[in-house]
Amino acid sequence: MYEGAVQDLIDELGRLPGVGPKSAQRIAFHLLNAEAADVERLAGTLVRVKNEVRFCVVCGNVAESETCRICSDPRRDPALICVVEEPKDVVAIERTREFRGRYHVLGGAISPIDGIGPDNLRIRELLTRLRDGTVTEIILATDPNLEGEATATYLARLLAPMGMTVTRLASGLPVGGDLEYADEVTLGRAFSGRRRVD
Ligand SMILES: [Zn+2]
Repeated sequence: MYEGAVQDLIDELGRLPGVGPKSAQRIAFHLLNAEAADVERLAGTLVRVKNEVRFCVVCGNVAESETCRICSDPRRDPALICVVEEPKDVVAIERTREFRGRYHVLGGAISPIDGIGPDNLRIRELLTRLRDGTVTEIILATDPNLEGEATATYLARLLAPMGMTVTRLASGLPVGGDLEYADEVTLGRAFSGRRRVD
């Protein structure tokens, strides 16, 4: 519809999640009219996020060094691990202030339709973390939808013979939803009311 760079920008923006063609066009023209310095700062941030942000070698969360802020914090309880699908879930749970342990980010959930099986998730890395016996409780905080439930069930079975307590967030979370969309109070309650998986 437009020429050259403007259309390229609209096309690129339109590939982002949640951005439809109309929004892509609106953002593109907003950027066209913005101050050069503002656009350069945005462009610089985009480049930096790919160059500088890495994934924590321990838990898989986003990190700016080898280990993330949470894994390198000695005040966090190493006996508790909360298993989540994505780094954004770590942020959601951190907001509730209910959890003082550490995390393990799987990088997704089991979804046969999308061709994602246990081997595509960071499950082997989780098992490695459990080897030294420090961890006494694993909290399964995968999303309350089909894939999240399937992943929690798989992990519960896998972890059962290992001797630690395995818990799942209490019900009350919007079913079929995404952990990050739950409000802090609901998620906090689900956390404190977590139940043992047998
Ligand atoms: Zn970490």
